[in-house]
Amino acid sequence: MTVQLRGVLTALATPFAADGSVDVARLRAVVDRSIDGGVHGVVACGSTGEFTALSGDERRLVVETVVDQAARRVPVIAQTGATSTAEAVALSRHAQSVGADVIMPVAPYYEPLSVEETLTYLRTVAGSVDIGVMIYNLPVATGVDLDPDTVGALAREVDNIRYIKNTTIDMAQSAALIHNHGDVLSTFVGWDTLLLPALVEGAAGVMAGTANVVPAELVAVYDAVQAGDLEEARRVWARVHPLLDAIMNEPFIAAVKAGMAAVGFPIGVPRAPVAELDPDAVARITKFAKELQVSAPSTAATTNGTVRRAASGRLLAQGDLPPGQHFIGGAFRPGRFGTAIDVVDPSSATTIAQVAEGTVEDTDLAVAAAKAAQAGWGRLTPKERSEVLHKVADRVAENADLLARLESANTGKPTAVAQDDVAQTVDTFRFMAGALRAPTSAAAGKYAEDHLSVILREPLGVIGVVTPWNYPLLMAAWKMAPILAAGNTLVIKPSEQTPLTTLKFAELVADILPAGVVNVVTGYGPVVGSRLAEHPDIAMIALTGSVRSGRAVAQAAAASLKRVHLELGGKAPVVIFEDADLAAAATALRAAGYWNSGQECGAACRVLVHESVADEFTKALVDEVSSMVVGEPGAGDDVEIGPLTSKAHFDRVTGYLERAAAEGVRAAVGGGALPGDGYFVAPTVLVDVPDGAECAREEIFGPVITVETFTEEDEAVNRANAVPYGLSASVWTNDARRSHDVASRLDAGTVWVNAHLVLANEVPWGGFKGSGYGRDLSIYALDDYSRTKHVMHNVAR
Ligand code: NAD
Repeated sequence: MTVQLRGVLTALATPFAADGSVDVARLRAVVDRSIDGGVHGVVACGSTGEFTALSGDERRLVVETVVDQAARRVPVIAQTGATSTAEAVALSRHAQSVGADVIMPVAPYYEPLSVEETLTYLRTVAGSVDIGVMIYNLPVATGVDLDPDTVGALAREVDNIRYIKNTTIDMAQSAALIHNHGDVLSTFVGWDTLLLPALVEGAAGVMAGTANVVPAELVAVYDAVQAGDLEEARRVWARVHPLLDAIMNEPFIAAVKAGMAAVGFPIGVPRAPVAELDPDAVARITKFAKELQVSAPSTAATTNGTVRRAASGRLLAQGDLPPGQHFIGGAFRPGRFGTAIDVVDPSSATTIAQVAEGTVEDTDLAVAAAKAAQAGWGRLTPKERSEVLHKVADRVAENADLLARLESANTGKPTAVAQDDVAQTVDTFRFMAGALRAPTSAAAGKYAEDHLSVILREPLGVIGVVTPWNYPLLMAAWKMAPILAAGNTLVIKPSEQTPLTTLKFAELVADILPAGVVNVVTGYGPVVGSRLAEHPDIAMIALTGSVRSGRAVAQAAAASLKRVHLELGGKAPVVIFEDADLAAAATALRAAGYWNSGQECGAACRVLVHESVADEFTKALVDEVSSMVVGEPGAGDDVEIGPLTSKAHFDRVTGYLERAAAEGVRAAVGGGALPGDGYFVAPTVLVDVPDGAECAREEIFGPVITVETFTEEDEAVNRANAVPYGLSASVWTNDARRSHDVASRLDAGTVWVNAHLVLANEVPWGGFKGSGYGRDLSIYALDDYSRTKHVMHNVAR
């Protein structure tokens, strides 16, 4: 295409992978970030792009990648010089052949040419291609300062020389180019801090390395000047200038990369021989970046910076949705008042269904139905109840695909997570169907003289169940399966945000379970949940949810002294000792910290790593997280991170990230929301976390891991325990004695050694302290949902 360059052109930085090679995936993300920021062109292999450190093949690879990724959205300029004339010609022809729009052959850096030799070099290279050519005046590196008239004459002589990038701080020189040679040359300044003065002077634009850092701000300055709104241009300029200045005052390549990290878009450090910045310089750049508030959620991004969207956009077909009504006494019924709650797809923020807004009266009807059904259900023999539960498991398995799609549509879960939820749901019913036939208890026997003791396990009666939105179907199954196995009936209130799979489950098993055994009332916690907690005919209230809701139901339950079963929040510490397998830990945390987008009460979210291995571990973790795929469910089986489940929760998580940034905590990767529709937050690793920081203390419940360091084992244990939660934890060490000892000292209901978030139906799940009490899964859940009765017979004769 014939292009006319103008505006803000990004001199793209080049990212390198851990093995030192050009990181093509991240380079694509760097291109996207600039284009998403509104720039008008991108430059491959400029000096910001470290072409001096790239081989000829790598330079070709970078140009090909940038052209491919830009995909004609903006023009691509390829820097093809700084080599022998023959190589510059070869690079230029290659750039033209793969689709670059303009070449920019800088004179060789390290072998100073005379002005005449430089002109010959430029003439030859320009003559080798048909596309436009930009002269790159960079005296600081080439040793030749091309004066405006010389350049003007060259442009008049050589047809395709149309642009100049003038990288000097001599504004008068740029002004001479603009005013005296504007008929043949468009002038771009190459000194980022001259952007506004140059534009006011009439320059075509700027070619800026800092456009990798703050593309949108530089574009805003350009746009304002174009619109004639100099006041607005000055306002934005005043905000962004201190950061540009801080970057321009440091070794430029490393400073641009430090700036990118400071705004939540880290792409690593320069390749040798370019040195990294010293920490003071990084701190200065970070400070100005923070002041500019570029770490704010709307601008931060993951390493690939984008959300992969599903091709078709629709997960559900006609007839997949359950009725949006309560399920009471074996049938769907409308709510008493006829009001409804919207159910939203968090990938697109669109309403996909409505369900009834339950009332106290609806709840009471459901409790009455459960009460009426309980005696019959409780009287079944273990074998009979077991067979029913096996049939339920079969029915769920037969509808696994439908349930997984419904769950993904309602929660945004990646397909793999939703499918796992359904598979675990099946296994939970199967386990309980088996376990209920092998009750455990003290043996009947004569424990007092002439008296025979018999210990009975009895159902509690009707149980009220309240579930959260993070695993709607699975958390319902964790409650329903043992509750039913133990001979109880139930009324369940799913989260008002995610009721679809619970209703679908009821619809699917309606012909298997006797009427009234399972009842579903949809609605809000303070109405339906609260009524269940206080209802006199409910024997126990079982809730999985936040500490706040746990406290509310425990208080409501107190009046009737009913039992309370609470699975609440968590803030799992991950204690990594110096002898641990760090690579294995980083790989495990990729799953354990970010499964279900981190909306997981057992998530490995708070790393405490020994200071001697902290850098090595953090780098390994950041590498893992940097390659995570963020996308909509349905955008591929490799999607690992979906959106957060609701706008309210999205606001909550991004609020934590904003406050962390304000506290001086740094995002080594991620750091905020991702652009586009839906509630997507970039997978994030927070470092430089001071002891006691909010982000390391409170449950964020999003794709965020914090990394803190420790020096002594006791300190690690004390800090791990110094939060109100006690749900789960992990210890990473190859020292067997230490692993036993530290595991025993961690105050958590589950402690993994050299693993995290591995669950099984045979073993209990539940917390200590603020994480609640009561156990899900295993025979301990069966115990929790039944009562022990001692019958003593006087057998004296
Ligand atoms: P939430 O407490 O906001 O809601 C959970 C349920 O409680 C919802 O159905 C809600 O409607 C209901 N509820 C709210 N107020 C209530 C009240 N006053 N009385 C009765 N019910 C009320 O929690 P959430 O945001 O849906 O879920 C996230 C929380 O759940 C996190 O804290 C997470 O750690 C926790 N969680 C814990 C486990 C576990 O096994 N320990 C598992 C999953 C989630």
